[in-house]
Amino acid sequence: MTHHKENGLNTEFTQGLIAWQKTSGRHHLPWQSQNVYHIWLSEMMLQQTQVATVLDYFVRFIQRFPTMEDLANADIDDVFALWAGLGYYRRAQFVHQAAKIMVHQWKKQFPCERKKWETLPGIGRSTAAAIVAFAFRQPETILDGNVQRVLCRVFALDGDLIQPAFIQQLWQFAEQLLPENTRDIPAYIQGLMDLGATICTKNPHCEQCPQQKICLAKQQNRISELPHKSNKIQVKKQELFWALCVDKQNRILLVKRPHHGIWANLFCLPCFENEQAYQDFIDEHHLVKMQTLSACPHRLTHRMLNIRTQVFRLPEKPSALANGLWISFENLSDYAKPKPLDRLLMDFYAQSHPSASKKRQDK
Ligand code: SF4
Repeated sequence: MTHHKENGLNTEFTQGLIAWQKTSGRHHLPWQSQNVYHIWLSEMMLQQTQVATVLDYFVRFIQRFPTMEDLANADIDDVFALWAGLGYYRRAQFVHQAAKIMVHQWKKQFPCERKKWETLPGIGRSTAAAIVAFAFRQPETILDGNVQRVLCRVFALDGDLIQPAFIQQLWQFAEQLLPENTRDIPAYIQGLMDLGATICTKNPHCEQCPQQKICLAKQQNRISELPHKSNKIQVKKQELFWALCVDKQNRILLVKRPHHGIWANLFCLPCFENEQAYQDFIDEHHLVKMQTLSACPHRLTHRMLNIRTQVFRLPEKPSALANGLWISFENLSDYAKPKPLDRLLMDFYAQSHPSASKKRQDK
């Protein structure tokens, strides 16, 4: 990788970014403080999720769990319920586990070394770096997908982001860009986040960019080809079958998912990966089919799911399912569910109970 120190590009990049962040970056976010609990929680929520989405969740979360102890002592199902809709639910499990470790093992003595934070569940190098940079002004850099894109463009780096060796080089390069004065670290790291999230996006707004005078991708007219990432992810197709069982009081049957695998620990409809097992379940409980809902595609990182759902009534005679977890529509939001199920239930109830659904949305 070419080093640009000699031509001063690095310094211009760093100083330009700090100055821009101070005047035009994002300020007054509710976690921008010295509160380590808030900083850590926001960084966990911001993994794979945009600031605009995180804002409401963050505020609700700290209202419910104002301190790290409150979170550590919470019931995991309450944590899931508050996380519902934010996606990537393993993070909810991680924040709960990590809070317990920080409260019970670390006695809330938060370390300022990045590597110590990386020992907590759900925290990789970039998240750990952001925490210690914001909380303790440690000279550590972040390198999430947004920052990779910014660096590859400004410095015209055309390595392949799928290659671990190139990512390793990028980390070293990003470290060289850190400001020398540690007082500037928080503004610099926030600036990297702000630039990647709001200006140097997939279709960048170069006219508003503080790096437009030095950006090599812009000068060389290569913005659309940088960063370079060969597509190695194989997306597997998978069919899933959901049984939406409704009882006489119009409650629906939920089951808790296993601790591992897709949608771990969330509440879902009875779910089957093959049609025979699904049919056996219907036969065993003598379910009466009422309706077939339209198939619902849902993309996970490595899988494209096609979810087929049918609506059933319980038979007149009590079945083994009668003792299951039957939930009324009004109480469904108390249960953390997979995102496609939230959507599907909302559509289903909007069809069958238009007034109830309206009332719930107005809440
Ligand atoms: S000039 Fe354009 S491509 Fe270059 S860093 Fe700025 S927004 Fe990104």
